This record gives sequence, structure tokens and C-alpha cells, in this order.
Amino acid sequence: MTEPKFVDVVVVGLGVGGEEVAGRLAEAGLDVVGIDGELVGGECPYWGCIPSKMMIRAANALAEARRVDGLAGTVQVQPDWAPVARRIREEATANWDDTAAVRRFTGKGGHFVRGYGRLVGPGRVQVGDQVFQARHGVVIGTGSTPVVPPIAGLADTPYWTNRQIIEVEELPESLLILGGGAIGLELAQVFARFGVRVTVVEAMDRVLAVEEPEASEVAAAALRADGVGIHTGVRAERVDHDGSRFTVHTADGGSFTGERLLVSTGRRARLGDLGLETAGIDPGQRFLAVDDRMRVRVGGNGATAGGPAATVGGNGATVDGVWGVGDVTGEGAFTHIAMYQASIVVCDLLDQLRQAAGGVDASGAARAGGGAMGAAGTGDGPVGATTVGTGARGVLRADYRALPRVTFTDPEVGAVGLTERQARDRGVNVQVGTAQLAGSTRGWIHKFGNEGFIKLVADADRGVLAGATSVGPMGGEVLSALAVAVHAAVPVSQLRHMIYAYPTFHRAIETALRELK
Ligand SMILES: Cc1cc2nc3c(=O)[nH]c(=O)nc-3n(C[C@H](O)[C@H](O)[C@H](O)COP(=O)(O)OP(=O)(O)OC[C@H]3O[C@@H](n4cnc5c(N)ncnc54)[C@H](O)[C@@H]3O)c2cc1C
Repeated sequence: MTEPKFVDVVVVGLGVGGEEVAGRLAEAGLDVVGIDGELVGGECPYWGCIPSKMMIRAANALAEARRVDGLAGTVQVQPDWAPVARRIREEATANWDDTAAVRRFTGKGGHFVRGYGRLVGPGRVQVGDQVFQARHGVVIGTGSTPVVPPIAGLADTPYWTNRQIIEVEELPESLLILGGGAIGLELAQVFARFGVRVTVVEAMDRVLAVEEPEASEVAAAALRADGVGIHTGVRAERVDHDGSRFTVHTADGGSFTGERLLVSTGRRARLGDLGLETAGIDPGQRFLAVDDRMRVRVGGNGATAGGPAATVGGNGATVDGVWGVGDVTGEGAFTHIAMYQASIVVCDLLDQLRQAAGGVDASGAARAGGGAMGAAGTGDGPVGATTVGTGARGVLRADYRALPRVTFTDPEVGAVGLTERQARDRGVNVQVGTAQLAGSTRGWIHKFGNEGFIKLVADADRGVLAGATSVGPMGGEVLSALAVAVHAAVPVSQLRHMIYAYPTFHRAIETALRELK
């Protein structure tokens, strides 16, 4: 092993979260090494959010064109995947080339190393034959990979994950999808709208099982209307591939066949072979447990002090000088979570440095940074943690009460905070109010594709919303008002006396407020 090179901060994994942390610390003047074994920018721009949303945009254009009949004349729709594949290749991913993203980072003063990093001691990271010793911190942002369930035969088949399906140039005739979560449903609808015969097999008793049951029903009905076969409560037991077709055999003796098989049954943290134990971190955790300043906990969630250097803080023992960011933390596999957490890491790390230098705390030190970008570098501006709660000394602290999530099916399923079931399970004195979009003026005008609803879950004792769901056309956009309400704990009485523009979809919020009981 070569002599370690001393630097200020080492960031392992330059996905959405790691790149944001590394770039901002470099801009702040620190000597930062950023390491990535694959593409700088991570899953979101190359195999995740951005290309999948390009697919959805195209599929929704087809669906809207099909709605012209009965509204505005007649249209003949001839789907063609070529422009979609081209857009993903050329505009989103630069043919899966991260030259622009690497420049984006090095242009801020960061030093980039391509390779897989591994901890080899406290503050020490090895990549290839180079070793870096961090003076001030190591940040782990290694992201997540698809969960591949232990179904007999599956591992020996040429199944697809999100990576292969995002890169697809030619559509298969049929597609089986294991998993009816957000990613599975979004892609199911896209491919069905392009004429592929799609079948979703979900083990839980409903799709989008983490959201409100009413949302699952609307989403399932919408996908069925697009021709998707949806089979819930069905457990895949064995998978065969005969060289050209997949067969999924189910526990109830049934089977489904398809030309391609997409596995979208969740994500797990990339923690393998990271050498966590050399830095005093439990290597057996499912996700990298962090506290509310994103400092890595010593022993996972059941933290016990130990390791090379540990600090016992407000929420358990943490390892000095190691932070986690993004999917790897298990706090929500979303780009907006990775960006939010990145701001907290930057703030906390700079705060520590200021304190060590005898300065003031870092209140407000972390500015909002650039958003996740396509590989070509066309970011959509700040999505950083400007709304984080502040701790006693003004350092940003993570607060996931108002975590928004959107499934970009048509209709979109947006949700924030607690579902009704979660609120009841936590002993909240729940009131629920629901309004159907089809019954609203805007929904009635919209006509085709107006399925959806607003559901509010109020905490009657506190007089605020604990959660809300917004399903419908632009349900993810309508969600923003509800996210503000949950985040800022706006009193329900105030929400009732707001003026809601007419005739918008979000006016249904007012109706749902009236229905709270
Ligand atoms: C199909 C799909 C659609 C999605 N759509 C959305 C969406 O609409 N909205 C949303 O908010 N989120 C969406 N997501 C989730 C989003 O992509 C992730 O939450 C986000 O990419 C997480 O960022 P990250 O920085 O934690 O990790 P990642 O983006 O996974 O990046 C981790 C990086 O670490 C690198 N790495 C791993 N191990 C090492 C190592 N040992 N050394 C060096 N480098 C390493 C990897 O190469 C990778 O570049 C989607 C995901 C998928 C798969």
C-alpha cells in the first residue's frame, strides 16, 4: 500500500448525494477527493429519475393524443420508441458518459478518482493503489442496488433491472414485471402505452402498498385501463427462461410468461466490501444508520459506543468524522432526500471545522445547491435543504415528517407525511377528509383522465395535517401545497380560510378540508 495522501474530505460515491456534498465542500475551499466506480451523478441521471421520466413524458403524450377522440376531433396514434431511446441516449445520459459531470465536480475544485473506494481505517480510504487520509471527514454516498429476491431459478435467467430497461433500444413484445411499487408501475404503464403486453406480479395484496389503499385502487384501475395485467397477492416461486421466454411460476400453481422480465422489488444499500468495520462501523447493517446530522452511528440503529473514536450525542453514539448521505441511509430512496441530506452533511461538517477553529456555529452556512442534473449538465436549480428544521445551535437537522413522494403514473400519486393507517398506528386522534377530483369543477372539465382524489389525514388534537395524498392529473404538483401544510404544521383552521384558485385541481383540498371527520 502506498503512503496515504492527506486531504480534507473524502467522498465515496458521487451519486446525487455524494456529488452534491463533494462539490459544495470543494467550493467552500476544502481539499476534497471524490471517488466513483461508475458514473458521476449516480443512478438518477443515467438509470433512474431522469430517463424514466423522459419515458413517462413520451407515454403520456401518447395517452393524451388518444384522449383527443371525444374532446377535439380524431387523432391516429402511431407509437415509436426510437425518439424515446434517442432522447435518453443523447439528451439524458450522453450515451452513459459522465465527462460533463466529472467536469462539473472538478470545475468546483474537487479532485476526482475513478474506482471503488474502501475504508481501510479511521478516516482512511483506499481506491486502487492510492490511499487517502481525510483530515476532517469521510462521506459515504454509495447509493443502492436493486433487490433481487431469492426466487428459485431467477439468478440464472437474463432478467432486467432498472439498468437494462432504461437502456432498451427496441421494445419487447411482452414484459413481466416482478413488483408493483413505484418503479414497477411507472415502467409498466410506459411500456403498455407503447403497445407492449405488460403483466405485473405483486406479492402484497395491493400495488403501491406503502401508500393509501385508495391510491392503490386508482393506480391499479388506471394501469388496467391501459391494458396492464395486475396480479396482487401472488407470490413468484420459480422463474424459468427457455432461451427466448420467461415463465414465472406462482405459489398458487399459476404461471405468467413474457419475452422480458423486469425485477423491481425494492432497493438495498450498497454497503458490501466498504470496509466499514475498519472505521468502527457495524458492517452487517441493512442500511447505514445515521443520526439527524447524517453522522454515521456506531452500531447501526441499536447504537453502542465503541470503535476508534465515538461521540455520544442526542440520538446515539456516532463515529467521529464519518457521514452518510442518500439511499445508503435507508431514509427514503429519493433524489430529493439525497439532496436534502447533502445540505445537512455540508452544514454539519463546516460547523465542526468552524468550531475546531474556535469560530461560531454554521447556522445558515449551507446554501441551497444545484439540483440533480442530466449528464449533459442541465440542472433544474436548487433543490437543497432550505427547509430543514434547526437544532439547538442552529445546525440543520434532518426531519422526515413531511417527506414527499410521487409515483409518476398517470394519474400521478403524490403523498406526504403519514397515511391514515400509519397515523392510527401511532395513536394519532385521526380525522380523514376526502374529495374526488371527478366531482370537482376542474375534474369535470378535464373529463378523460380525471381520476383521482385528495385525502387529508388530520391530527385532531393538534389541529394540523399529519399527512395527505393527492392522486390525479399533476397530483405531484398539487402535492406541494399539502407538503407545505404538513411541513409547517399550518393549522387546519387556517387552511380552511385560504383562497383556492378556481377552477384548479388543488381546489379539491378545500372540499377535503370540509369533509374532515
Ligand atoms: C428507475 C428509477 C426511477 C427513479 N425515479 C425517481 C424519481 O422520480 N424521483 C426521485 O426522487 N428518485 C427517483 N429514483 C431514486 C433516485 O435515483 C435515488 O434516490 C438517487 O439516485 C440516490 O442517490 P444516491 O446519491 O444516494 O445514490 P446513487 O445515485 O445510487 O449513487 C451512488 C454512487 O456511488 C457509487 N459507488 C457505489 N459504491 C462505491 C464505492 N465503493 N466506491 C466508489 N463509488 C461507489 C456508484 O457508482 C454511484 O455512482 C429512481 C430510481 C430508479 C432506479
